[in-house]
Amino acid sequence: MATNNQQKVGVLQFVFFLNLAVALAKVAVGALTGLLNLVADGIHSLGDSVSNIIGIVGIRLGDRPADDKYPYGYSKFETVATIVVSAMLLVAAIEILEAAWRRAFAPVVPTIGLLPFAVVLITVVINLFVYWYERKRGKELASEFLKVDANHTLSDVFVSMTVLVGLVLLKIGYAFVDPLVSVVIVFFILKLFYSNVKEAAEILCDSTRIPKQDIERVASSIAGVRFCHAARSRGREDAVFMDLHVGVDPDITVERAHQEVSRHIEARLRERYPQLISVIIRIEPDRKELPCEHTT
Ligand SMILES: [Zn+2]
Repeated sequence: MATNNQQKVGVLQFVFFLNLAVALAKVAVGALTGLLNLVADGIHSLGDSVSNIIGIVGIRLGDRPADDKYPYGYSKFETVATIVVSAMLLVAAIEILEAAWRRAFAPVVPTIGLLPFAVVLITVVINLFVYWYERKRGKELASEFLKVDANHTLSDVFVSMTVLVGLVLLKIGYAFVDPLVSVVIVFFILKLFYSNVKEAAEILCDSTRIPKQDIERVASSIAGVRFCHAARSRGREDAVFMDLHVGVDPDITVERAHQEVSRHIEARLRERYPQLISVIIRIEPDRKELPCEHTT
């Protein structure tokens, strides 16, 4: 029986090939028929295959244990990969804009047969299947990534609809529609680029993952905890690092503070947040004369 992660990788590999086929079909037919908007849509679809690869790499690396060189583990490699491939999307977007600009001043009226229509319709059907399948498996495997990835595929269907409308208008003879629709699709590519990079930057810059109050509430529920403050969390949605300060009776032994308080807090936090990779708890004496400088 394959592990949960192996199954997730299996799902992603399967949809990767479908997404790649969709993207290549659009780019190829677009280039063949001289339809810029179809090429643009194909490049936008390429973003799906790319996010599948990021997912596969992320899950595989996440399985790798921490070592001397990366004592915090490998979870952020996926984030770096996201930025690199998003930069590729940006380059593609600029190239489409350039082509659209040239075409706007030297209109080309592509002859449109049935092929472009057929390609768009077939790829929409494949997209809908990928959405349905990935979502179903995402629920079965309790994978947030798969569900988000599925929703992203659904959003592509709307972009394809724009292309379809554009094709109809082109067929009627409105040549300016081709560069225009291409620019609209570039907007979607840029939106994708922005949200990818924003999320990645937030992870790399250690933005808060779990609200401070929530962590402190969980820690405070443990017997022996007199106060809790300065709770912080960072990392990826599914790979969180945490640290917090906990006040205990100043007269208990270090051993008791460790065995009866620290360990229980850690166990409770891990139970509440299964995505927790590591938690560091600083034990402080609950004594007014020795206030902590981080009290908030
Ligand atoms: Zn403190």
